[in-house]
Amino acid sequence: MSEDKTEDCLFCRIASDDIPADVVAANDHAVAFRDISPVAPTHVLVIPRAHHANLGEVAADEPETLVEMVRLARSVAEADGVAGDGYRLVANTGAAAHQTVFHAHLHLLGGRPMGWPPG
Ligand code: AMP
Ligand code: ZN
Repeated sequence: MSEDKTEDCLFCRIASDDIPADVVAANDHAVAFRDISPVAPTHVLVIPRAHHANLGEVAADEPETLVEMVRLARSVAEADGVAGDGYRLVANTGAAAHQTVFHAHLHLLGGRPMGWPPG
């Protein structure tokens, strides 16, 4: 469920410009910024402006925003020059899947070969 978590949620505070981030793209529904601890040459996080705990919650509550997040990720991949070789979108969901920030986000990873299965 979408909630007003601006006061205590790191990514809500980034979305509202309360905390600085290296923003690379944005639209009415989503914001893309570079991860503070990148694990690939391109490592960008795409978040909804509204608070949702994870990507499934975005899909359930605000499906048009999920589409806008993927569109934004695609345009950043193209702008960073990683779309041609290929990139990965990751949505860790829950602590066991290594979700550490409980505001929905897509990781856009690119610029190096990726292994499979992911760790
Ligand atoms: P996850 O483990 O899937 O929840 O991903 C959270 C991501 O947020 C990690 O890759 C962190 O490096 C990243 N992160 C945490 N704080 C910041 C921040 N202030 N600015 C940018 N990225 C951040
Ligand atoms: Zn939030």
